[in-house]
This record gives sequence, C-alpha cells and structure tokens, in this order.
Amino acid sequence: MSQIKKIPATIVTGFLGAGKTTLIRHLIANAGGRRLALIVNEFGELGFDGDLLKGCASDTCREEDIVELANGCICCTVADDFLPTMEALLGRAQLPDHIIIETSGLALPKPLVQAFDWPSIRTRVTVDGVVAVIDAEATSAGRFATDPALLAAQRAADPNFDHDAPLEELFHDQLACADLVVLTKTDLLDAGRIEAAQRQLDQFTRPGVKTVRASFGELPAAVLLGLGAAAEDDVAGRKSVHDGAGEHDHDDFDSFWLEIPQAVSPALLVDRLKSVAGRHDILRIKGFAAIAGKPMRLVVQGVGARFGHYFDRAWAPGEAMVGRLVVIGLKGLDQAAIRAELAG
Ligand SMILES: [Zn+2]
Repeated sequence: MSQIKKIPATIVTGFLGAGKTTLIRHLIANAGGRRLALIVNEFGELGFDGDLLKGCASDTCREEDIVELANGCICCTVADDFLPTMEALLGRAQLPDHIIIETSGLALPKPLVQAFDWPSIRTRVTVDGVVAVIDAEATSAGRFATDPALLAAQRAADPNFDHDAPLEELFHDQLACADLVVLTKTDLLDAGRIEAAQRQLDQFTRPGVKTVRASFGELPAAVLLGLGAAAEDDVAGRKSVHDGAGEHDHDDFDSFWLEIPQAVSPALLVDRLKSVAGRHDILRIKGFAAIAGKPMRLVVQGVGARFGHYFDRAWAPGEAMVGRLVVIGLKGLDQAAIRAELAG
C-alpha cells in the first residue's frame, strides 16, 4: 500500500540561557524510540550548544544526526545554510522520525517557518509546531532575556546578521509565532511573579496557544513532539503520555484517545478541532480521520493555533473508516465534554 509520510519538524526558539538545550537534552534521553535529527543554530564564541548536545548522543540521536549551523543567524542564512542542510537530511538513506530545529534566540522565527514552503521541503516535511522557551524569571522582571549582554555579544559576533530588531521585538516575534510556550525557571519564583510572566506572554501569543511549565527541562516527548508515527496506527488506544520509555511520571498532563465520525471536509474538521482545543486545556491533537467521499484517510495534527493535515494512504479493503485521535492536555482535562463535542 503506498503511503505518503511527512516528517514532522519542531522549531524551538528562545533566548540563550532560557533552557532550550536542557529541554532538548531531556527530549533526546526520552525520545520514546523516535529517531531524531537535530539542527542547532548557535554561533560565534557562544556556539557551544552543539557540543553540549553531541555529548549526550544516544541511539535515538547519533552524533551524525546533530547538524550545527554555525555560520550565523538561521533566519538570515535560510537559503545558503538551512535549506541545503534540510535537503541533505532528506537525501539520507535512513530518514529521521522527527526533526528538531533549535534556533538562536536572535533568529526571527517567521522566515524559518516560511522556508518550509520551499518546493523540495514542503512535500516531505510538515511543521509540527513552533515551541518558544521563555525564562519566567527574566520575563517577570521585564528584561525577557536571561542575559541581554550575552545576546548583544552574540549579535556582534555574526557578520551575516541582517535584522536589527531590539530584544523586546525579538521576544514578541517569538511569542507571536509560537504554538506552544514552555515557561522555565518557574521553580525560582512565587505565584505572583509567575502570573506576571504569564501576563506578558498572553499579550503576544495567538488565541489558543497554551503555556506549560518545565522544571529542569523535563517535559514528556508526547507534549513537545506529539506521539510517534507508529502510535497513530495500532497503539493509539493504548499510548498515553506516561508510556515514554524511561520517562518519569508526569502528573501535570493527561491524554486519552477517541473515535470521531466521518467529517464533511478537512477544513470543517480542523475548524472544529481548533475550537474544541481553544475551549479546553488541550495541548495537542493528533491522529487520522475519514472524510466523506474520500478514499484516502486524513492525517491531522495540531498544537496551539497550528493545525496541519494531509491524506497519507488509502483506506484498506475491509478497514473500518473510523477516525481516531489522541488528545494530550493539562491535568484535569474535561474528557467527557471533549468527547461529547467531537461526537456528533
Ligand atoms: Zn536572522
């Protein structure tokens, strides 16, 4: 049976020091069997992220799967650096299950997201989501970056840098592009300071975009990346956020799966999923659906305000044309209400 499978890509933004590398290291250690490819964009004197990550290379993320873009800001070198790197990655015999792109905090996320529309990329890769990693302490104090002087040094070290946005504007752009916000260093703050940081975020994120808190970078892979491709087909009913190999118990999250009736069109289905996700503490929805009059099944995935869909394969003869979705959200998700809203 022929199958079109797009490789999901997650873009991780956030200023130097916010905790991107810690988050990604934890992810590599708890990848749940996915083979990850990592594109890392730190540069200049400060380009140590790549080395830090190479040091934790594991079976799911080998040293050759970690590519460092050290020639400067990723958004300023999209055509010369990022696109050829992606094309080389897609030309490999063994393809990754998921691509993670860690941008420098100086990069504007929008040009990078647009690069996924490039003809050689868009048929093979889908943007799963943009994750903004935000330092709660720095944000509640109104300076946004952990160490603004370090950022200024990073900017000065990059001869290719061609956008002169002030720090605050970069911060706003990261949030405006984010599908999920990860707030770090909340363990250092009292409730009032955390709320102050959250209010800053809420001004700039799009409707439906949720915030999760991570202490020491510990977020389940299913929250950051969605469930692995294999889960969609045969283990959708049994997988939960707790199933990641070697993962700690995460009491902060809930997940469940449900069946959905045939939808009239992909657009109507996505509208409906978006509105349900917006009303509830849903972080992600992923799975497949049957569309009236279509012989192919629809893969659908959403995080925050971003929902993507494509037809991946024909329904098999005799296969029940029933959609199945996994829903991942914050603890206390109103499962009964979500089921009811998606049932009819
Ligand atoms: Zn740039």
